[in-house]
Amino acid sequence: MLSSKKKYIVNGNSGIKAQIQFADQKQEFNKRPTKIGRRSLSRSISQSSTDSYSSAASYTDSSDDETSPRDKQQKNSKGNSDFCVKNIKQAEFGRREIEIAEQEMPALMALRKRAQGEKPLAGAKIVGCTHITAQTAVLMETLGALGAQCRWAACNIYSTLNEVAAALAESGFPVFAWKGESEDDFWWCIDRCVNVEGWQPNMILDDGGDLTHWIYKKYPNMFKKIKGIVEESVTGVHRLYQLSKAGKLCVPAMNVNDSVTKQKFDNLYCCRESILDGLKRTTDMMFGGKQVVVCGYGEVGKGCCAALKAMGSIVYVTEIDPICALQACMDGFRLVKLNEVIRQVDIVITCTGNKNVVTREHLDRMKNSCIVCNMGHSNTEIDVASLRTPELTWERVRSQVDHVIWPDGKRIVLLAEGRLLNLSCSTVPTFVLSITATTQALALIELYNAPEGRYKQDVYLLPKKMDEYVASLHLPTFDAHLTELTDEQAKYLGLNKNGPFKPNYYRYLELPRNGEAWVIMSFLH
Ligand code: NAD
Repeated sequence: MLSSKKKYIVNGNSGIKAQIQFADQKQEFNKRPTKIGRRSLSRSISQSSTDSYSSAASYTDSSDDETSPRDKQQKNSKGNSDFCVKNIKQAEFGRREIEIAEQEMPALMALRKRAQGEKPLAGAKIVGCTHITAQTAVLMETLGALGAQCRWAACNIYSTLNEVAAALAESGFPVFAWKGESEDDFWWCIDRCVNVEGWQPNMILDDGGDLTHWIYKKYPNMFKKIKGIVEESVTGVHRLYQLSKAGKLCVPAMNVNDSVTKQKFDNLYCCRESILDGLKRTTDMMFGGKQVVVCGYGEVGKGCCAALKAMGSIVYVTEIDPICALQACMDGFRLVKLNEVIRQVDIVITCTGNKNVVTREHLDRMKNSCIVCNMGHSNTEIDVASLRTPELTWERVRSQVDHVIWPDGKRIVLLAEGRLLNLSCSTVPTFVLSITATTQALALIELYNAPEGRYKQDVYLLPKKMDEYVASLHLPTFDAHLTELTDEQAKYLGLNKNGPFKPNYYRYLELPRNGEAWVIMSFLH
């Protein structure tokens, strides 16, 4: 199966118009900040931190150890010191986390088994920049089993699980990452992965585009040896399309973000599984009978609504798009304007990807103890800035939980300061990450093994056949039995019995957006 996938045609795409906004490059490694300086710099470097998922839990958190990992001399049990993690002694705990994650990542484990004979990544030198979690560790170790050498940094300064990073370093992976890096640390770690004597990457696995950008900026000659980039996040993919449009992309790149198995599963199922977790961990609330308004009924909104409905909440939906609005109605939700329910609801959740969906006026009208949170990409959906006025008092009641108190004593409960609730306050399901990680592994295999000239210096989507393959690797978990087309049926539908089973424009849960009826539209307007 692995080798046969090389036959498929991959679609080019270069239609995204966003500006490239690379992270600011102010850092100078020689000027190391003081401990206080490092802390004050601590913040998320790029939008990528919200594009993909990480587990925030860390039961061996060693935040009491104030020494920067950069100031420590550490070796693993084999005497190797080519890594920089918080505390190598946490490796055993990390190994247990990785073993737990392996149970929920069946496709990667299946790839490892298949690779016992062939090593499709033999000779690959992959430099990676992703969240460093147990799930990424399973991916990294799978790439190793497939024959690759890897060096890894974190794509987010907060999301590294220190014990997992330690476990990877203990088993010989050069990992440069710890939870709570400063901005300077962040770029230093990336540089330590790339700028190594006697080792040069030939593949990039990026989440957010910071690693790719660093190589473009500092070591452009490296691209002579790099065979391709695999990018997971919305932000990173936008950057790649921009480079491609500007004629500056010097190697082929795979857009994993827009593959069906990433989008349809991450957005819908991940949110369906994690919204309750995020709310429960921060507020201990009971959901049954509570009135909730969910703003936006796209993939994320559908997931949130389904989870809350199942818990017995009374769910209202707001939408601007009549199609999604109709879907909400037919799924049994009351479609309302936010103003109509704002006084009565117990929870407000935004999932629109838009800005100022919840304004100060809405916040003023909410009832006492109303919980306000966001599941969308950025912290623009709730106008949090409007709450930073002298008459309102902010009280931090728990990590990521603020009470904002009005002069009359009314308080609202603001979660994660309006940032993504599930990424900030809960974990996300490993099984969903398995689907994305498998897609990343296949994209790497594809780009690495593609014959010269198959892929140009452009951004490619994975072929549907590969999405189908990723899905099929996850089916045995459910003891699911897939029906096979008969010859007669395949002929009738005009399909190959082995897939692909749908045309490229098929959008699964949504209506197709191509081929709008412009003639009819002109009558309507
Ligand atoms: P989507 O485009 O499928 O859905 C967004 C919906 O919001 C659309 O139906 C749109 O019509 C509606 N909308 C836009 N403005 C609105 C407004 N003012 N009021 C009411 N509805 C409005 O997108 P999606 O896949 O559901 O993603 C939504 C956001 O969540 C994005 O920002 C995405 O990046 C993010 N996301 C979050 C997670 C997570 O784990 N929290 C996962 C994936 C995506």
